[in-house]
Amino acid sequence: MSETTKIGLFTYDIKNGLGLIGYNVDEHEFAHIVVDVTKCDDCSHMMCVWGCPAQCYNFRDQGLEKMKFQYEDCVECGTCYIMCDQGAVSWNHPRGGFGITYSHG
Ligand code: SF4
Ligand code: SF4
Repeated sequence: MSETTKIGLFTYDIKNGLGLIGYNVDEHEFAHIVVDVTKCDDCSHMMCVWGCPAQCYNFRDQGLEKMKFQYEDCVECGTCYIMCDQGAVSWNHPRGGFGITYSHG
């Protein structure tokens, strides 16, 4: 199913866009981003949700009471690490051989 996001004057199909890139997802114990979701409970701005281009963060905007983070669709842009001012995001590059590969562009 297609899922579009309006960015200014443009509408972007995120999931189809992500189909242009490849992933080699590491096992869960080697997740390259770990979020301490207990720190999210009192977060007033949820900048990670608004800033993540791959919609890895889902929270109150989706009607959820607890932050739900999935690293599998991450495009390794680093935005969430910069935007979180609560120290909730632990960010590393994926281990060698894992993570994203760009097919186009
Ligand atoms: S910005 Fe940080 S504290 Fe706020 S919801 Fe996102 S990860 Fe949680
Ligand atoms: S690094 Fe970028 S794509 Fe990955 S979870 Fe953070 S904001 Fe989303």
